[in-house]
Amino acid sequence: MTWKTHVVLGAMAGYYAYPSWKGILVGATMALVPDVDKARSKAGKAIWPLSWLVEKGIGHRTLTHSWVILLLPALLISDSSVALAALYGLLSHLLSDAFVGRIQLFWPVRQGWFGVPIPRFLYVIVDRTTLLAATAYILYWGYREGIEAVLGIPLS
Ligand SMILES: [Zn+2]
Repeated sequence: MTWKTHVVLGAMAGYYAYPSWKGILVGATMALVPDVDKARSKAGKAIWPLSWLVEKGIGHRTLTHSWVILLLPALLISDSSVALAALYGLLSHLLSDAFVGRIQLFWPVRQGWFGVPIPRFLYVIVDRTTLLAATAYILYWGYREGIEAVLGIPLS
C-alpha cells in the first residue's frame, strides 16, 4: 500500500485500540514504520542512509515486515494503551501489505513469506479503493459521532 493508505488505516487501527487523539496519532505514525526498509519511502527518507543500507542488505518487506517489528511497542512504550495503539498501527501495515503483495512475516525463515501477490494494475486499484473507502468512513464517523467525541478533547 502507499503511505497515505497506511496512515489512514493506521489511524483507524490506533483509534480502535485506544479511542482518543493519541490512539489516532500513534496508530497512523506506527503504520509508516515498517517501510523504513525502503530508502524512498516516507519513513525511509527520515532515517536515510540507514534505510538504504537495510534495503540493500536485508531487502524490502523482510525484517521490518515480520513478527520482529511487532515486538517494538512492548519494548519501547511503557503506556499500555499507547503500546496497543502502536501494535495495531503496525499490524494494519503488515496486513494491508499482505493483501496486495507478500511480506516475510516469519523472517528469517526463507519459507516465511505470507500474502497475496497481485499485478501492479490491481495493486493500484485496491490501494486507491481502500484509501477512498477508509477516508469516507472516517469522515462519516467523525460527522456522526462529533469530532470532539472522536478525539476525546473539547474544541470550544
Ligand atoms: Zn510496507
